[in-house]
Amino acid sequence: MPEGHTLHRLARLHQRRFGGAPVAVSSPQGRFTAAAVDGRVLRISNAWGKHLFHHYADGPVVHVHLGLYGTFTEWERAEELPEPVGQVRMRMVGAEYGTDLRGPTVCEVIDEAQVSDVVAKLGPDPLRSDADPAWAWNRITKSRRPIGALLMDQGVIAGVGNVYRSELLFRHRIDPYRPGRAVSAAEFDAAWTDLVALMKVGLRGGKIVVVRPEHDHGPPSYAPDRPRTYVYRRAGEACRVCGGPIRTAVLEGRNVFWCPNCQK
Ligand SMILES: [Zn+2]
Repeated sequence: MPEGHTLHRLARLHQRRFGGAPVAVSSPQGRFTAAAVDGRVLRISNAWGKHLFHHYADGPVVHVHLGLYGTFTEWERAEELPEPVGQVRMRMVGAEYGTDLRGPTVCEVIDEAQVSDVVAKLGPDPLRSDADPAWAWNRITKSRRPIGALLMDQGVIAGVGNVYRSELLFRHRIDPYRPGRAVSAAEFDAAWTDLVALMKVGLRGGKIVVVRPEHDHGPPSYAPDRPRTYVYRRAGEACRVCGGPIRTAVLEGRNVFWCPNCQK
């Protein structure tokens, strides 16, 4: 599932490609009511956690959540628009570019009050300048739930997914099963500051880069086009720091990865 940095990259891309001008919006598949925004000027494209919002002139907002399978495919505009391939939920066409959205969990037109309702359920987003880490800390320090579950809860911190969760906890030597209330304020502060920095790297480069230069050697990454990770998708392999075996288990519906030796 895309993590928050991917949504912020999309928000910025759509602002550059379509912002400040009218956008032809349609639903080749027919499952999205595009008429409410078709031909309107896209004012602002932004993101909060894993939610993308296209704010159009005079009120309507397109709300997108990609879920596990949603993707945007961009194309350069030519005289003839490309035939939609597969189930295109939403097509946006601007002066120079177009993009097709397929397979999202959510693609709907809502109003600003409904945007507020969506955002009210979300925790602070490390990539937003208005993020308030104290909100997340208040939830974590009162909770008996494992920190590895709390980090995946979008109501605690918005935008963290499975890779950042495992890697952040490794970088701070915190066992994913430690209860939230057993995490110290100093540990949380350090982890939050690190998370903001890591997600900004992800936002700039489009890849999750988490391994420090001094550890960036040894076995290759789990996928050829991805940077190395400390623990993510490395179950059974040797820890890049202590050499012990990396473990995995299902926590909050997804596999968490950690080094029992390094993380307490
Ligand atoms: Zn280790």
